[in-house]
Amino acid sequence: MLSLFKFLILGAISFTSVNAKCKVIPGSAGWPSSADWDALNRTLGGQLIKPTPPGAVCHSDQPTYNNATCAVITKQWSNYTFHADNPVSTDWDNTNNDTCLPDPAQPCSPIGYPVYVVNATTPENVAVGVNFAAANNIRLIVKGTGHDYMGRSVSPNSLSIWTHNMRGINLHDAFQPQGCKHSIPATAVTAAAGHNLIDLYAATDSYNLTIVGGLEATVGLGGYLTGGGHSPLSTAYGMAADNILELTVITPSGSKLTVNECQHPDLFYAFRGGGGSTFGVMTSVTLKTYPTPRVAVLSLQLTMSSATDNIWDMVAYILSQYPSLSNKTISADPQIAAIPSGNATTLYFIGNFRSISPQGVPYLSAAMQPIFSHIQSTWPAASINYTTTLYPTFYSHFLATAYSVGPGYNFRLGSRLLDAPTLTGNLTALTSAVKGFCGQLGCGPLLRGGKGIWDAVPSGGSDAVLPAWRKTVVHFVTGAIWAANNATAEASAVAAMEQRVTILRNLLPNSGAYINEANRDEPDFQQAFWGTNYPKLAAIKKAYDPTDVFWCHPCVGNEGWKEVGDKLCTV
Ligand SMILES: Cc1cc2nc3c(=O)[nH]c(=O)nc-3n(C[C@H](O)[C@H](O)[C@H](O)COP(=O)(O)OP(=O)(O)OC[C@H]3O[C@@H](n4cnc5c(N)ncnc54)[C@H](O)[C@@H]3O)c2cc1C
Repeated sequence: MLSLFKFLILGAISFTSVNAKCKVIPGSAGWPSSADWDALNRTLGGQLIKPTPPGAVCHSDQPTYNNATCAVITKQWSNYTFHADNPVSTDWDNTNNDTCLPDPAQPCSPIGYPVYVVNATTPENVAVGVNFAAANNIRLIVKGTGHDYMGRSVSPNSLSIWTHNMRGINLHDAFQPQGCKHSIPATAVTAAAGHNLIDLYAATDSYNLTIVGGLEATVGLGGYLTGGGHSPLSTAYGMAADNILELTVITPSGSKLTVNECQHPDLFYAFRGGGGSTFGVMTSVTLKTYPTPRVAVLSLQLTMSSATDNIWDMVAYILSQYPSLSNKTISADPQIAAIPSGNATTLYFIGNFRSISPQGVPYLSAAMQPIFSHIQSTWPAASINYTTTLYPTFYSHFLATAYSVGPGYNFRLGSRLLDAPTLTGNLTALTSAVKGFCGQLGCGPLLRGGKGIWDAVPSGGSDAVLPAWRKTVVHFVTGAIWAANNATAEASAVAAMEQRVTILRNLLPNSGAYINEANRDEPDFQQAFWGTNYPKLAAIKKAYDPTDVFWCHPCVGNEGWKEVGDKLCTV
């Protein structure tokens, strides 16, 4: 019996290895020669980079070792802009498997990073890179800023298209999509893919306008928009992707296309929520803009110490009020921490609630006061402190309130989307789920969903944003952190996070999670990130990229390949 079992296993292994095809890697048959890479560089006008890992400057066995530069890099490692400005660096160390940290005590090798980078400044550069990767069967990736929590913008043995230096912003009084007979009577902005959110906030603010964008200056347009993009303005104006009017893209076959509701509507659909580095490379985008609103912000610091679970009753009560706040287009991004001390636990519920109502602070205060009154009468031990501020524009509000803890460590996110009935229906179930999900490790119940997303009418009628967003009120996030190069610590941190996410998954099984801010190992990711849109997206992927020039995880149509060590091979 044992030998039969062995035979079956060995048979299966040899079957896989005989039939599997892999993307080529340096040293393997088919990897382009130095002369080929030189020729590519000439075609690109010198825009090909042979990168070194940024952390290598801290390692005496690496050619770029330099103690002084190491000190600079070590300091910059927690700076989002540093990682965005570097051709290969990424925010989260685990996305390159801790392969070269700026820490001499850790090992360093270039294996976690791309072998070559196309420093694209034009769509033509992008097309040349895509065609070279396709012709030579090389793993192809795309990096804008390297912010991705999923690790999609870095990989071993790859050619990377780096879009960071694609620049140019134009504003429009009205916009006529190419090939359409009609003009869209809305102000709009066209931006090259290398820009980040703050560039667009600044450019549009000069004209008293704003885009629908997220709350971090350096988040790049490419990943943010292709994932959907939530915003403090989403409760009023929808997801960022719902506001895309046109894109220029380089397809997996190297064609430059302008896609909109009238031209290539299938690709237009897929790029708006179908995920980054899957359907091609976005080289520029045109977004609807809005008159910049005044923004009222209430900065809340709510704390309560208790020896019982009533802190979680209070949190569940606040969440049960989110749907009514959302109906008033209020958004919020608090963080929750529950810190044990002796027999008691102290709960911290800290963050900003904001409103774009023309009535400003009085409107926001009137919405929040009944909630505070209820808390004070029901949980007298709670301490509520807040300040209110009215900002004259969305951009000024952004500059004053956008804040995020820096990168530069091992980190994974876990999240789920929850709708109004789940928040208001069964408070006992909600309390228990919130306690289990947040626990001592903390969480963020981001109030992002509302009528703006639920009733959005994207250009052309629909886009690929996860249908669950069309009912969502809360994008509920948590995370896992662990020490570098410690597989046991990683496994246990990720498993603990997954256990906590499962609690929310069980609370609302048919919901989903936001592709850009979730666990890359979310079970049944196709359903979780794209829901009923998945079959259509998979068909578009097959039509435009039948040989999988673009591959990433977790991404549409990636089922035919898997990572085997540092290789990418067919299953
Ligand atoms: C501090 C911080 C704050 C955030 N805040 C928000 C927020 O408020 N709202 C929100 O919705 N999200 C937010 N995010 C999540 C953010 O949307 C994702 O991290 C997103 O993937 C970032 O995109 P990027 O292009 O900057 O990153 P990258 O890591 O460069 O790219 C992410 C993905 O997009 C692909 N990609 C990049 N450029 C292109 C392109 N031109 N064409 C095709 N594919 C491309 C990459 O290959 C990768 O798959 C935040 C992230 C961070 C780190």
